Amino acid sequence: DFDHVFEALLNTSVDLDSLEPDSVLEERWIKEVVTRSGMKFRWAKLSESRERPNRDVHRRPPADPSCLKPRPPVVTIMGHVDHGKTTLLDSLRKTQVVTTEAGGITQHIGAFRVQLPTGETITFLDTPGHAAFSSMRARGANATDIVVLVVAADDGVMNQTVESIEHARRAKVPVIVAVNKCDKPQADPQRVKQELLAHDIVCEEFGGDVQAIHVSALKGDNLLALAEATVALAEVLELKAEPSGPVEGVIIESRTDKGKGLVTTAIIQQGTLRRGSVLVAGQSWAKVRFLFDENGRVVTEAGPSAAVEVVGWKELPSAGEVILEVESEQRAREVVEWRSYEEEQQKLQEEQSAIERKQKEHQEEYRKERAGLNHLSWRQRKSALYRANKNKFAVRPSERTQRDEPSLPLIVKGDVDGSVDAILNILDSYDAQQQCQLEVVHFGIGDVSENDINMAATFAGSIYGFNVGASRPIQQLAARHGVPLRLHNVIYKLIDELKDELSAKLPPLV
Ligand code: GDP
Repeated sequence: DFDHVFEALLNTSVDLDSLEPDSVLEERWIKEVVTRSGMKFRWAKLSESRERPNRDVHRRPPADPSCLKPRPPVVTIMGHVDHGKTTLLDSLRKTQVVTTEAGGITQHIGAFRVQLPTGETITFLDTPGHAAFSSMRARGANATDIVVLVVAADDGVMNQTVESIEHARRAKVPVIVAVNKCDKPQADPQRVKQELLAHDIVCEEFGGDVQAIHVSALKGDNLLALAEATVALAEVLELKAEPSGPVEGVIIESRTDKGKGLVTTAIIQQGTLRRGSVLVAGQSWAKVRFLFDENGRVVTEAGPSAAVEVVGWKELPSAGEVILEVESEQRAREVVEWRSYEEEQQKLQEEQSAIERKQKEHQEEYRKERAGLNHLSWRQRKSALYRANKNKFAVRPSERTQRDEPSLPLIVKGDVDGSVDAILNILDSYDAQQQCQLEVVHFGIGDVSENDINMAATFAGSIYGFNVGASRPIQQLAARHGVPLRLHNVIYKLIDELKDELSAKLPPLV
């Protein structure tokens, strides 16, 4: 029972800082005590005390250059809608030697390889458009080495062409231009290259270093030249990776397959993936049971720049997540557990700062209201405050105003205008010099009402009444809400009690 614990805690002079959550004293209780007693919220501190050692896994440091081997480029196709990205991917897929070997049907797994007659390979990511590209980059998992920018020769540079250029530039990925639809009579490749100049894409014939290949995706014309240009650029880029050591990669697709279960497609970036490897990605892990290539064939291993389907995930990680190999299942569980714990902490912290922000806003708003009321007569203040406070009921008690400085929210009731006015005047003069903020959240004439109690409960305040009463049901309501009712017939006694309550709120003198 929380109330019980709360009372007990408040009656002992424990240092809230030193409270440690354990099986008896749950964290939420401590949180509640800290909140209720108006102390600064110390959630961050509490979680710190039970923090686990960070046993996350990370990418490996750059390898010794002597261990690095050249690797094929990974290419993304981008460009304006209808300029022929999908058609180009389809034609490229058809040209690949690998497929014809097995006579298999190419399946969509998110990427495929094209092999040149000279033996070099290129991995094409087959989700065109920049949505996938930027979502991957947002996770810091850039899988692309080269962007093939498709521009239709009959249409020229359009806004998504420009966006694609910007994406590539921001990711520092070099571009090859595929001037497409060159089979069309109205095609004007020259104009395309001219227009690209305005966006700092300077093709070779203008003295720049960007290769532009005239193709027809539909007819399959000049695709080999495009592939050769890609391989040539990859050589310039000196793309390398270490085929040994722990695997690193990136997930480009992730799905549930009827037969295979949870499947992801990964681009391998370092190391060589094999059956039995243990992987983590985001908050999931896998013991690799099977690897498939884009033709649905089982492969025994996948080295740098290869795209493979990985089967064996316990849960499905998302596209864009980084894959890292760990030494054991035990280690994988540890990493995943740490990551979900960390995410939870992050969420808590965000929630907490959102609440604090909101509280600050309320405080500010309220102070402004009060400041604006000083020049008014108390009658005017009364109606203004009343109007202002009506909205305050929207504030849930858990988000109740909490301050760094101690504060005492008050509700003042009196028998006549004169007495309320006198009390407010005394409070005003007190307020100016003290460390404890007095907040008169509501005041008025007449016996204590249900509205007064609700107001006090909302603000965690006390009710002070001069020459007024409270009916039994009202007293019971106050008790239920834990609202102190302080009713007096002698004004200096009322002030004395108020002073006592204020000093109790002040931090103890050291
Ligand atoms: P995406 O939106 O960039 O993926 O464009 P699509 O590949 O869907 O192509 C849009 C339209 O242009 C389709 O009707 C294609 O048949 C057509 N198209 C694509 N490439 C060529 C080409 O090289 N020549 C001609 N004549 N039409 C093409």
